[in-house]
Amino acid sequence: MAHHLDPATREALVARVRFYRDLGLTEFYRRPVDPALLAQLAAAAEVAGAIEKPSPLPDQAAAYSEPQAASIPQPHTSQEDYAIPPRKPLPTPPAIADAVAPANRAAALELIREEIGDCTRCALHSGRNKLVFGDGSPTARLMFVGEGPGADEDAQGLPFVGKAGQLLNNMISAMGLKREEVYIANVVKCRPPGNRVPEPEEGATCSPFLFRQIDVIRPQVLVALGATAATYLLGVRQPLAGLRGRVHSVRGTQLIVTYHPAYLLRDPRQKKEAWADLQMAMKELGLKPPGRA
Ligand code: URA
Repeated sequence: MAHHLDPATREALVARVRFYRDLGLTEFYRRPVDPALLAQLAAAAEVAGAIEKPSPLPDQAAAYSEPQAASIPQPHTSQEDYAIPPRKPLPTPPAIADAVAPANRAAALELIREEIGDCTRCALHSGRNKLVFGDGSPTARLMFVGEGPGADEDAQGLPFVGKAGQLLNNMISAMGLKREEVYIANVVKCRPPGNRVPEPEEGATCSPFLFRQIDVIRPQVLVALGATAATYLLGVRQPLAGLRGRVHSVRGTQLIVTYHPAYLLRDPRQKKEAWADLQMAMKELGLKPPGRA
């Protein structure tokens, strides 16, 4: 029987297959599958590959950024392995709150959201379209922390819904999880202009709300996506290279540091490294990749 995939499903499957291939996972199917469907996917992957010719890094960055970002000098999210310039020290994070019972976590998160309100605590509010609080399960065992909303997130009010979000979705699926099973938030809840790194004042003003979200959710594992998330979660500025590859402890939770998906879009060669980081998180969570017995 022929399988007809709608374009969105086909595109998602092609992206998933390509992502697994980038990770070096090539023997994924363990059950017999319909050869016609496989042939269709392979053909679609070839077509997509032909369309999406790899471009030099600056072009890829421009494709990821929104159009006007290209005119701003050196806009970026999450530069990796950059020498972090000395700036004002971060304030001490607030104390870890008492545990909230799982049944009350959604309501506790709602209270934090209400307290943030129509926030004007830092300069980022003036360019905001929608505040991006966070998304996912209030009882998640795994929580991802990014840097700050981009254009798509600012428009929708949800974290990681643009190109970097699609890659994050693939990373979550590769771990054998659904996006709705994890929780996703950012260091700052309003979009920095031109996707620049949040200023220390902005990060220091907003990150206590992130800490409170973490204290409510109490995930078993936190994954910091990029240097900004790692810096605010750990309270130290260090190049990412020195923070990856080990399990840190933050607010009673294990923290693993990996690359920001936007960086992986600019340099896909690092996806294998990111997968190694995610596998470390999976080990802590007792998860095996899908398709592995
Ligand atoms: N980059 C981030 O750091 N966070 C988002 O929500 C989207 C892109």
